[in-house]
Amino acid sequence: MRVYFLLLLICTTMTAFAQLTPYEASQKKATATYNEAIAYYQKLATTFGKQAKLMTYGQTDFGKPLHLLILNRDGIFDVAKIKQADKRVLLINNGIHPGEPEGIDACMMLARDLLNRKQLPKDVVICIIPVYNIDGSFNRTSTSRANQNGPLAYGFRGNSKSYDLNRDFIKTDSKNSAAFQQIFNIWQPEIFVDTHTSNGADYQYTMTLIPTQKDKLNPTLSSYLTQTMLPYLYQEMKGKGFELIPYINSVKETPDSGISGFMESPRYSTGYAALHNTIGFMP
Ligand SMILES: [Zn+2]
Repeated sequence: MRVYFLLLLICTTMTAFAQLTPYEASQKKATATYNEAIAYYQKLATTFGKQAKLMTYGQTDFGKPLHLLILNRDGIFDVAKIKQADKRVLLINNGIHPGEPEGIDACMMLARDLLNRKQLPKDVVICIIPVYNIDGSFNRTSTSRANQNGPLAYGFRGNSKSYDLNRDFIKTDSKNSAAFQQIFNIWQPEIFVDTHTSNGADYQYTMTLIPTQKDKLNPTLSSYLTQTMLPYLYQEMKGKGFELIPYINSVKETPDSGISGFMESPRYSTGYAALHNTIGFMP
């Protein structure tokens, strides 16, 4: 009986979520489907009801709403109260191009590990859109991105109306974009991350990075981005063994002819974010 009570005590005081993501369970060969990702977050939010909440916003062209996972150490999920508490908001958008799915899987692991290890940050609320282009994630094959080294099957770039959602942020021809704008304007993130994959380009680094074009931010944010945040990110990623490199666009076919700075208009995610004085990143 004593052992039984001890076990019961341990079980009720320690909350843990042991479920592997499809990426982990497949030895890094598969990426989560939309249904797998949402079911995973639903279980996670149920297990950690005090620090995690899964909400839905608007509609998409596919007929399903956008999900948003909110992680807050203090258990407050009311935006006004979060802003009153002077917390920063980090918004991460995944699966805008579902054939570029690393962010979908990485965020599932990130959320689980932060919750399991009780490592949610004190001053930052983390918001995660599990899959933005729900439509494209259901259009799953293993042939639409032939230059890419895996996964076994993945979604398609366009949504169900063939829109590239990363050209639709300000124009909002898609319902996905309207739902995103709701999320963005309600949560007003200070930092926005839109996860992608550099397809086919022969980079020798694990991760390339496009930050918001600095001259579009106000001078305080611009200097914080270039003088403080970017050097820190590059240094820390190098230290972790995943050195970053800037994502570049050549003037012509190869960089020999010159490298041009990418001026992302508000059609693009980080361009839309910059309109709101939000620092955006496209890793
Ligand atoms: Zn992309």
